[in-house]
Amino acid sequence: MKNIIFLAPPAAGKGTLSEMLVEKYGYGHISTGDLLRNEIKKQTDLGKKVESLMKDGKFVSDDIIIELISKRIMESDCENGYILDGFPRTLVQAEKYDEMLNKLGKNLGVVIYIDIDKQTAMKRACSRITCPKCGRIYNKYSNEMKPKHDGMCDDCKVSLIQRADDSEETFAKRFDEYVQKTMPLYDYYKNKGVLKTIKAYESKYDTFNEAVKIIEG
Ligand code: ADP
Repeated sequence: MKNIIFLAPPAAGKGTLSEMLVEKYGYGHISTGDLLRNEIKKQTDLGKKVESLMKDGKFVSDDIIIELISKRIMESDCENGYILDGFPRTLVQAEKYDEMLNKLGKNLGVVIYIDIDKQTAMKRACSRITCPKCGRIYNKYSNEMKPKHDGMCDDCKVSLIQRADDSEETFAKRFDEYVQKTMPLYDYYKNKGVLKTIKAYESKYDTFNEAVKIIEG
């Protein structure tokens, strides 16, 4: 299976699309956001270090992220292919990742850019809720993505929570970080000839179908 890198602004739907592709193809799912939130939940030294940065919409240091990733891609669920959801997010990370792949003799695969405007992404972020137990992503205002019972995970039956960085104010900061630090990766991967673009449609199934075409094309 082709490895996948999702390149997209915050709240474009990387996590939701990843869940759907993991279910269809059995990819390993590497979400740097989830890895970091897990460290915060467990209040590890790393978690304590990154908590306020993340709450403030800032990026975590490249060194921390590279260390997390280099361990995670060696895990057995990633052997036959994996999705990078939230990495690389800076040019330094992209270059370090190339070095990592060279050393491991693995292929980059395909980079899928999800196209979405700032207003739509902001609306999605502010209405996103997740299950603290299984990590499933819901959206309060989407018929397709709202939970069956208000505020409760369909599967785990526990209360859904809003992410600390999904407020209007923090979203604006996250978006600025993205434009400044992540957007240059668009050209980086375009020049390598591995970049494909899909649109963030209103329906997650339309977006999913476009991704499937790329993966199987
Ligand atoms: P979203 O789903 O909105 O794109 P993520 O869950 O991927 O957000 O990331 C949440 C936060 O975690 C980021 O705003 C940033 O603080 C931190 N983070 C995640 N991935 C990286 C990365 N590759 N480099 C630096 N910081 C990161």
